[in-house]
Amino acid sequence: MPRPITTRFAPSPTGALHLGNARTALFNWLHARKRGGRFLLRIEDTDRARSEETQVGALIAELTWLGLDWDAGPDREDAAGPYRQSERSGVYAAAWQRLLEQGLGYPCYCTPLELELARKAALSAGRPPRYAGTCAHLDASERAARAAEGRPASLRFRVTPGEAIEYVDLVRGPQRFLADDLGDFIVRRADGGAAFLFCNIIDDAAMGVTEVLRGEDHVANTPRQLLIARALGLKAPAYGHLPLLVGADGAPLSKRHGSASVRDLRQAGYLPEAVVNLLARLGHSYQAEGWQERAELIAHFDLAALGRAPAHFDPVQLTHWQKEAVQRASPAALEHWARGRVPPGQEAAFIAGLRANLVLPADAATWAPIVYGELPCATGEVRDAIVTAGAGYFTAALAASAGKADYARLVASLKAATGLAGRALFRPLRAALTQRFDGPELAQLLALMPPAVVAARFGAARELSTRPVSLDETPTR
Ligand code: GLU
Ligand code: ZN
Repeated sequence: MPRPITTRFAPSPTGALHLGNARTALFNWLHARKRGGRFLLRIEDTDRARSEETQVGALIAELTWLGLDWDAGPDREDAAGPYRQSERSGVYAAAWQRLLEQGLGYPCYCTPLELELARKAALSAGRPPRYAGTCAHLDASERAARAAEGRPASLRFRVTPGEAIEYVDLVRGPQRFLADDLGDFIVRRADGGAAFLFCNIIDDAAMGVTEVLRGEDHVANTPRQLLIARALGLKAPAYGHLPLLVGADGAPLSKRHGSASVRDLRQAGYLPEAVVNLLARLGHSYQAEGWQERAELIAHFDLAALGRAPAHFDPVQLTHWQKEAVQRASPAALEHWARGRVPPGQEAAFIAGLRANLVLPADAATWAPIVYGELPCATGEVRDAIVTAGAGYFTAALAASAGKADYARLVASLKAATGLAGRALFRPLRAALTQRFDGPELAQLLALMPPAVVAARFGAARELSTRPVSLDETPTR
């Protein structure tokens, strides 16, 4: 029996949920659900200036929309909480105190300017730009003197020189870092705020997190976090670092690739199952190439199938999964696409008839006036098709569709009246009814169209084929 696992998603609520972060959340969730483990939501809002409470609500709404659920979080507190870091300052203060007492942390009085100058000097001397250890060995009186100058102190973690820090990354395999490359690093800022990497490991340990999948931008934090855990006798989680999500051009995914946030996709009308089917494959390979229901995505999720290469976000794939999702969606999930665009009460029928031609709500907006509204005077190829069929064709169409049009009867009458068949028979019909040559089956369309609309379309087509030259095209005499 594999040991029980706990994963988490730990977003900083500084903006809309980015697709890269949504994928991180999804992978942690899939892994937890696959293993029958727990999945936590922790809000990393120690950077109060950049965090907004409204973003927390939005995050929860977007994760919920994606169909993710968590066993504990800011809206579902339990004994390991609170799940907002801004409410955990006591936990961090106690940990800093222990580091100080053990001599594993020390106050650093260097100003930002001094640090910057030291950094530049190191770089120009060809040394790594790590902290030089200026304050590492101050005695009590030296500290008191600096404090008396009014210098605020940050708290630095004392790294033992000479050792190597090793861990096996769940995605990248064995990793090795040299303590000497790290330098003593800040765990409490001079303004008293907790450093991100510090609270992150303290909380993972306190909340019993066993596995963390996160973006590879956090690789450099990992050795430092492992050192903190060891110093405080905490059990660090196993880490797996996911490759970046990039656009087709290889650059990190951003707004200029189109939709970069869950909110954008949601607002454009993408369905959560489409987004999830896409994200689950970005950096993780499933044996099955086709659509997978949620339970299958869970059942076949496998850490061993996580890739190391940057994962490409491709809008064409998004459209592919959206089409799949639309064909599978319940009528209720799509009806709001029709609401306000079709006559009240017709929403379900419209969605049922048009489903194969709908990808996004915008498509419902395109088709609704074709089915129920008025069309402008035909032009171009559509007009040619109508004119070629001739007035007799539409006179027959009008007669055969009087009352409620029945497709089979209409086609039979048109055949009999015109002697046409195949393309010559159907093209003018589609042209007159929709002014386009693509779209749903005519039978389905006709069943949806109000009789008055059908009559108006055939009437207009007959008119056009009787007087094919429109007024504005009439040569002046
Ligand atoms: N708050 C961090 C982020 O959003 C969490 C990193 C982690 O998962 O450890 O990047
Ligand atoms: Zn210092």
